[in-house]
Parts: sequence; structure tokens; C-alpha cells
Amino acid sequence: MLRVGLTGGIGSGKSTVSGRLAELGAVVIDSDLLAREVVAPGTDGLRDVVAAFGEGVLAEDGSLDRPALAKIVFSDDDARRTLNAIVHPRVGARTGEMMAAAPSDAIVVHDVPLLVENGMAPAYHLVLVVDTPVEERVRRLVAARGMAEADARSRIAAQASDEQRRAAADVWLDNGGERAVVLAEVDGLWERRLLPFEANTREQRVHRVGAPKIVDYDPAWPAQAARLIARVQAATGGAPVEHIGSTSIPGLAAKDIVDLQVGVDSLEEADKLAHALAEAGFPRCPEALSDTALPSHPDPELWRKRVHCSADPGRPVNLHVRVREWPAWRYALVFRDWMRTHPHEVTAYAALKRELAPAFAADGGATRYADAKDPWMHAALARAVAWAGGHADRSW
Ligand code: ADP
Repeated sequence: MLRVGLTGGIGSGKSTVSGRLAELGAVVIDSDLLAREVVAPGTDGLRDVVAAFGEGVLAEDGSLDRPALAKIVFSDDDARRTLNAIVHPRVGARTGEMMAAAPSDAIVVHDVPLLVENGMAPAYHLVLVVDTPVEERVRRLVAARGMAEADARSRIAAQASDEQRRAAADVWLDNGGERAVVLAEVDGLWERRLLPFEANTREQRVHRVGAPKIVDYDPAWPAQAARLIARVQAATGGAPVEHIGSTSIPGLAAKDIVDLQVGVDSLEEADKLAHALAEAGFPRCPEALSDTALPSHPDPELWRKRVHCSADPGRPVNLHVRVREWPAWRYALVFRDWMRTHPHEVTAYAALKRELAPAFAADGGATRYADAKDPWMHAALARAVAWAGGHADRSW
């Protein structure tokens, strides 16, 4: 099963997108709809709301008078907390039931207007954000939903900003144009990313990246890494995770693969995390068992690691699960920190990559390319360690 979070500001087009995803075969869980269902006439949710706020929140037909309730909770934090304590657990329970009832090969799309505001993004394999410029959203809400303009604007202002949503978005769907444009994008996303991501995750298969291809530094890499780190931490119960490797060094051309380092106390602990990582979309890569031992720490046992890779065809990732304080863990960090502070080394490393990668362009993977970089890498590590010796209080 693939869990996809879908969000966006009011009037951005979430329902438009989730409707298309449902047509394509997704199981859509609409949190707004559930929030209404759990206080529908005859439910114990509605009974508790009436017990808390009085008969005045009921309409004549016995259903919830939403505007009356909104008036009470809008300006009173305690009242809002009371209402949330009635509604949220019930919505959570229904969501859990619906997820559990979905087939094992389902792509579940969870439509949550306040996904970003509530910090829910790390729980999903992928977060889609639908965006439409504010003025266009106001226009649509007024024209199509008959909302008062002031009401539309105040609702928009109360929600997360575009920046906050952008930080949470693995996929940014621009719905500022014709409906057909965003729908075509959704179709492509379904076919090229969601379907293979789901199948890979279910079969615990990583997405193969192939021959090394060097691209210019992408300023979006740090934000992508931050999202992945939050996801890995959610899956591992809070393991320390660091962005390492070339994509963590500003300005450095690199393969478009985000390297993360997950810290554990032992390889047994790494093995215990394997299932949770695979379930979160990072199955084990069986072939990469060790880093190359360096002469300063010749014991091969100290260089063993577990590697997980991404099942997502849209975002290649290598997760190096290493024992904290073993040499490879520390080398990765010192190399990153040294490169970040030595721009001429970044230039030299980029030139080496650009020179070597084409020679291995016909390879099925990046192993021979990595081997070819080793001599430069070892010499660079020695310089990095010498630098760290003057800055860190531990011996290398
Ligand atoms: P949300 O679920 O995010 O609040 P909706 O999908 O309901 O947003 O879209 C808000 C309104 O704008 C709806 O009436 C919808 O039909 C309309 N709408 C959505 N996308 C477009 C578009 N690309 N062009 C014009 N109108 C649109």
C-alpha cells in the first residue's frame, strides 16, 4: 500500500485532483467528509457535541447547525479544544479503519486540508500539494461556491502559507491554469510515479538508477533531504539522520541521488529497522554491505553497514545505515563539513566527477565510477581529517 497525502489551500483544487485520482483507481479518504460523518444525526459524536455545547447547536431537522457551532468555537480556544477532542479521535479511528480495509496494493490518497498545519507530512510516502494563486482561488470560491469574498480571504489567511506548503511538497501541482492541465499532470504522476512506487514498495524492490549521470547542483536538494529525513525519522522512531554526500554540499554538481545517513547503535539494530524502512518506501539494497576500509581503521568489521534505497522512481535516495561513531559514520560527516567550508575543493571534486562519469555511462550502476573516484576521495579524506583535527576534539 502506498500512502499519499494530498493538501492545498482552500479553493486550490484538492477535490478536483482527488476526484481524478479516484477515477484512476486510488482509494480516497476525505478528512473533511469524515469530520462531517462523525457528527451526523444519530452518531455518538453528535450526542457528545450537544452535551458539550447545548441544544443551540442543532438545526431544526436535528442535524448539526454548523454556523452556530462555528460562532461558538471561532473565538474561544477552550471551546475549540473541546470540539476537537470530540471530532479528531473519531476521524482518526475512521481513517485507520479505512486504511486497514484498503487492499494491500492500494494507493490511498488522504485528502487533508490542514496536513501541513498539523505536521502530518512525514507519515506519508509522498505528499502532493495543489497550488493556485490566491486571487484565482478567491475568484473560484466566490464564483463556483458562492462564498463571500471577505470570507474566502479570511479562510485563506488562516491557513498555512505557500512557503510552508512548498516545504512539505514532494510534488507541487500547479492548478492556476485550465483544469485539463492539472488533470493531465495527475494522469502522468499516476502512471509514471505512483503506480511503480506502490508496486516497488509492496514487493520491497528498489528503483534502479543505472549509470552515473552528473547534473548541476540543485538548490532544492536540501529541502528534499529535510522531507526525507523527517520521513525516515518517523519510520524509525526518531533515529538520528543526516544529509550527507554530494547533494549535501552547496554548489557541487552531483548524481541526482540524495544520500542520508541513519545512525544506529549496532548492526543488529539496523536489521531491526529494516522492515520499517522498507514499509516507508526504502527497501534494502542487498549488494552494498560495506564501505571501503581505510588504512587508518583497517578492521573490515568497522566498515560494515546496511544500505536501503528508494522505491520511488521520482526521487532516488541511498540510506546508509551506519553504527554511530564507527569510522564511516564520522568520515561522511567530516567530509561534508570540510567540503562545505572549502569552495576550491568543491570545484576540484566537480571537475573530477564530470571527467569520470562519461567513461562509465554505459554501466548498469555506479560502482565502477565510485571505484574510479576512490584515489581522489582517499586523498581528500586525509585533508578533511587533518582539517577536522584542528577543529574537533576527537582523535582520528
Ligand atoms: P479545494 O478542494 O482545494 O477547496 P476544489 O477542487 O473544490 O478546491 O476547487 C475549488 C473550485 O474551483 C471548485 O468549484 C472547482 O470546480 C473549481 N476549479 C478547480 N480547478 C479549476 C481550474 N483549473 N479552473 C477553473 N476552476 C477550477
